[in-house]
Amino acid sequence: MILLRLIILLAIVALLMWLLKRLFSDPEQAQEPQRPQVTSENMRQCKYCGVHVPESSILRIDDQYYCCQEHADLDQT
Ligand SMILES: [Zn+2]
Repeated sequence: MILLRLIILLAIVALLMWLLKRLFSDPEQAQEPQRPQVTSENMRQCKYCGVHVPESSILRIDDQYYCCQEHADLDQT
């Protein structure tokens, strides 16, 4: 049965091709990249320049919010 051997051989070749394709494809491409959730954080507006800054990195002086020390100093004077 030459035809049966040929079919088996083709099946093995196809399987090897599939395995090689899986092996060489980038595994990180399939995974969803972990992104920091910035949108869920509360945003505060700088009293001096009006720029929006996440609450974790904002400067709070006398119940007023500032994006940086420089703007806080400029507003106080
Ligand atoms: Zn500012």
